[in-house]
Amino acid sequence: MRAAVLYEAHGRLRVEEVDTPTLLLPNEVRVQTAAVGLCHSDLHVIEGIVARPMPVVLGHEASGVVTEIGSAVHDIRVGDHVVACFVVFCGSCRMCRAGQPAMCQDREATMRAPGTEPRLSRQGRELHQWTNVAGFAEEMVLHRNAVTVIDERMPLDLAAMLGCAVATGVGSARKVARVKSGDAVAIIGAGGVGLNVCQGAVLAGAATVVAVDRSAHRLRLAAERFGATHLVDASAEEDVAARVRELTNGGADHVFEAVGAPHLIDVALDATVRGGSVWAVGVFGDAARIDFSAAHLHSGKGVHGVRAGSLEPQRDIPHLVDGYLRGRLELEALVGERIGLDDINRGIEALAAGAGARTLVVF
Ligand SMILES: [Zn+2]
Ligand SMILES: [Zn+2]
Repeated sequence: MRAAVLYEAHGRLRVEEVDTPTLLLPNEVRVQTAAVGLCHSDLHVIEGIVARPMPVVLGHEASGVVTEIGSAVHDIRVGDHVVACFVVFCGSCRMCRAGQPAMCQDREATMRAPGTEPRLSRQGRELHQWTNVAGFAEEMVLHRNAVTVIDERMPLDLAAMLGCAVATGVGSARKVARVKSGDAVAIIGAGGVGLNVCQGAVLAGAATVVAVDRSAHRLRLAAERFGATHLVDASAEEDVAARVRELTNGGADHVFEAVGAPHLIDVALDATVRGGSVWAVGVFGDAARIDFSAAHLHSGKGVHGVRAGSLEPQRDIPHLVDGYLRGRLELEALVGERIGLDDINRGIEALAAGAGARTLVVF
């Protein structure tokens, strides 16, 4: 099968023939990939902002059809439609037992043991499986807890985005921040994740939803398709925080940083009402440090980390599918372009240039 392989940071992906094992382990499934989204976290690895072992096959929000199951897999069938997601969990550690699989402490248990045949290789050399998914490939060999079976009425290309952008965004608003009816919310960064924070806040009943971005296109999307009630154009506004405070009667209850720029945490705190919360949804680089005025803490404000929107894949992904099928969840407007695997470098370049909407690689 073919996959896009990254050999070094700052390099281009090489689409080439890659091997998967002939024999599955008892707890594995083989999935024919249908689609995979290009996400900023993939770009972070390509740009070396996040260091990972190479060579690697990236791609961590994917969908597909199960073609083979391991001998211990009894609740997934050949032919099932699935979402493959980077929240791969062991199911038995302390955090998994506490209902928080996104915080799993034993991800090694979901990988193949060192020294055994790797899930991905080329000419005998191991290729690392990014986030235990490696969706930039025609086929995925996955731990059974990496996949969630979904309703077959769900379009498989759109389903891919449920594994990261949608789960993280919607989950950040609904599950992590627990936005309440009537709340005022601001989202800094209206990209794939930010737009989903937007619709998550709307679904949770937020009265005011302020989208902040530098792109007129993304702001228009936020208002027309994702429920933002107010827009702040950060390229034209001198004091973004002051503008958000003005629109939210003194500050938002929740401000989400969905860019991954350390200095924006300080801006977010400035835009937050006394006693309110800032949620760091964006992914920062390995070396990032965050600096903000300690006075914010005396105002009762908090800064909180978010991991994958606290996703519980097997509970939340079917719920998101249901939301889409009932017309409550916007997905199509997230997609900018659908491309083939051979065009993946063009998609990565568009992502790096800040094109905004999601590019889907469709197989
Ligand atoms: Zn992602
Ligand atoms: Zn676990």
